Amino acid sequence: MEKAGKPTVRQVYALAAALCERMGEEFPESRAAASELIERLRTLGPVLHALGDAIPHRDIPSRKFEVGSGVACALALLARHGPLSPVTIGALAASVPDLEHVLPRISDREIFPSHRFRGWHREGGVPAWAQLVAAGAILALLLRRE
Ligand SMILES: [Zn+2]
Repeated sequence: MEKAGKPTVRQVYALAAALCERMGEEFPESRAAASELIERLRTLGPVLHALGDAIPHRDIPSRKFEVGSGVACALALLARHGPLSPVTIGALAASVPDLEHVLPRISDREIFPSHRFRGWHREGGVPAWAQLVAAGAILALLLRRE
């Protein structure tokens, strides 16, 4: 078997089937079903982020801690599951909207809807410590060995 060059179509097909199985998704039976699945997976992360922002919560009062812990968690998931894992891709897709809080602005206002529209991201409700406990429990579940 030739080892150099890009993966074959059969290899990519087998990889997609393995990823679907790992995520508990049916492997699509038609082009339309495949397009729908791809679109759903691409949009799910930002949708979850927007839903999370809609739950009233207290932000952790340290940007340094938020960025450091976010990067550390992403690296831990990357090391445990690899860059093509649905776990890693889902975590990054759900976290990406908050990059606009730390990267230089390209607009005078924030862009992501739950950051841009007042009243969507509300203060109060879930305290920071409870979010940290939940994040730790979720991370422990995602990092555990099967
Ligand atoms: Zn956000």
